[in-house]
Amino acid sequence: MSKQTHAFQAEVAQLLHLVTHSLYSNQEIFLRELISNASDACDKLRFEALNNNALYEDAPELQVRLSFDKAAKTLTITDNGIGMTAQEAIDHLGTIAKSGTKDFMSKLSGDQKSDAQLIGQFGVGFYSGFIVADKITVETRRAGAAAAEGVRWISGGTGDFEVETLTRAERGTSVVLHLREEALDYANTWKLKEIVGKYSDHISLPILMEKEEWKDGELIEPNNEEGGRQPGGMVKTGEWETINKASALWTRPKKDITDEQYADFYKQISRDFDAPLTWTHNRVEGSTEYTQLLYIPAKAPQDLWNRDKKAGIKLYVKRVFIMDEAEALMPSYLRFVKGVVDSADLPLNVSRELLQESRDVKAIREGCTKRVLSMLEDLAKHDKAPESTDGVTDVLSDEDKSKLGQYTRFYGEFGAVLKEGLGEDFSNKDRLSKLLRFASSTHDSVSVSFADYKARMKDGQDAIYYITADTLAAAKNSPQLEVFKKKGIEVLLMTDRVDEWALNFVHEFDGTPLQSVAKGAFDLGKLQDEEEKKAAEDAAETFKPVLAKLKEALKDKAEDVRVTSRLVDSPACLVVTDDGMSMQLARMLKQAGQQAPEVKPVLEVNPEHALVKKLDGSVHFHDLAHILFDQALLAEGGLPADPAAYVKRVNALLS
Ligand code: ADP
Repeated sequence: MSKQTHAFQAEVAQLLHLVTHSLYSNQEIFLRELISNASDACDKLRFEALNNNALYEDAPELQVRLSFDKAAKTLTITDNGIGMTAQEAIDHLGTIAKSGTKDFMSKLSGDQKSDAQLIGQFGVGFYSGFIVADKITVETRRAGAAAAEGVRWISGGTGDFEVETLTRAERGTSVVLHLREEALDYANTWKLKEIVGKYSDHISLPILMEKEEWKDGELIEPNNEEGGRQPGGMVKTGEWETINKASALWTRPKKDITDEQYADFYKQISRDFDAPLTWTHNRVEGSTEYTQLLYIPAKAPQDLWNRDKKAGIKLYVKRVFIMDEAEALMPSYLRFVKGVVDSADLPLNVSRELLQESRDVKAIREGCTKRVLSMLEDLAKHDKAPESTDGVTDVLSDEDKSKLGQYTRFYGEFGAVLKEGLGEDFSNKDRLSKLLRFASSTHDSVSVSFADYKARMKDGQDAIYYITADTLAAAKNSPQLEVFKKKGIEVLLMTDRVDEWALNFVHEFDGTPLQSVAKGAFDLGKLQDEEEKKAAEDAAETFKPVLAKLKEALKDKAEDVRVTSRLVDSPACLVVTDDGMSMQLARMLKQAGQQAPEVKPVLEVNPEHALVKKLDGSVHFHDLAHILFDQALLAEGGLPADPAAYVKRVNALLS
């Protein structure tokens, strides 16, 4: 094949422009990305070679080599992995196949800092080479192909790239970066070693660099920046040494791994710039043997709510990389967890389909779920400092101190996703219920657990009261809460979209039933004294004729009309029947374009309220009745069916 010129796909050109213009702050990630590609290429070779050992040719030891040439101003990353055919080079290095990339492009804000952060998350992989290079030459040959079938790919990182054939004896890929003037620092052994130590130590593949020594042969411990100490400076010796740890991090004993190394590994696999919130690392032995290293991120990713989002678990079998995003290893409600599972039992040729059915996988999934829940329980337990007791001052260990407030952070980011587990994972429902946190009528922050609530329940209270609403303000100011406030009874405020759905699966906590304050007839049970009950009954009796008229006037809107003692300041409110769908959920379903049954609520009126007292004998009875109903609807975040009619009625009364 003679030289051919190809244009980059439009998205690539756009991405390249961005890469070269906004990544100054985090230049050095280019090396991480290119080493990671080299390592993937070796993983792919190892995997294909399982069925075709000949692919190893005469070089069974997979490795990555870094080298530089100061005079030529080049830095080269070479691997002896799978390599690329000409077509693969054109396809893979000229287009962006990843589905997430469109999404990525649409999120770019034009703000350099946040865009750079995004690039880190999505990973621009190969193209990040152009952060430091104004030209890249890739020379590659597919494993198994003839030497004459090598390819050279060259681009200046703007509109197009060139491809031509090449004879290349060794399989694999060399990426030659022609360094920009301002990036010449990277042609330096110390600098490269430092970056590899930071990002790529855990790569299980050896990363090699040529050893250097002082030119006059008189060896001075090279523990310092190169340069100036000897007239000849450092020269290459032709001997290669491994500069990374070259053992997969998760296979090393815990005690040999520092927190920083754990955090760096996390950043590498998650492409997150921030350190993780916490992690767990264990070797599990028993009927199935595996190692798990699982992380909880500190921040939710942008696509947390994407239903197709895959789990963040990489599957290895006996240290051989098998697949990314192994969703079978983690339930969907824990999709935010990142990490690695390395199984000793699964077959190496395991497919996604096979994973779904495997008993070993089921055991791993259960084991991983339990581990994550334990990790969360531990954070929850240490979230707040214990109340100080009789003069014992500071009893917290440093480790405990570091956990303060962590669960609150976690819950703020991922609490709503965790709730999906209530409907998804019945075997862990009780553990999950204990991990839930809510705001309440007496606590503004989302920090109240069911257990906290129970501990504060009034004498005679036999239910956990809650209300669901679209916003915290709507929940807090809801008329249904009035009597609870008056009596000092705490009510949980639930404002996550999933709450209503999730609560379908939780009817009680530790023997105490959950009761919505907006559902069913009002019954405070023992919390209401005899006198109040008697007064309510009397009011209901004297009110009967008015109720009958109200029912007639509102027969198209309200299922029923009754008096209530749940209100203090408001004239009326709406409730639904015990087993009915809440008005809020019905609204939400409608907004989402889904079928929702027509919810006809019950109108409850407060016989003590001046407006309600006026009803009897009023000439405006019909208008007042409708205003009462529509206002009750407004108060809980709904809209009158005919807003104009409502306005007209109110104005008529005002004037
Ligand atoms: P990603 O690695 O996330 O898929 P990149 O842009 O880094 O995205 O790389 C695009 C593709 O180019 C890779 O998926 C791979 O097929 C190919 N590629 C890149 N580097 C190498 C390499 N060193 N050896 C073989 N193939 C490579």
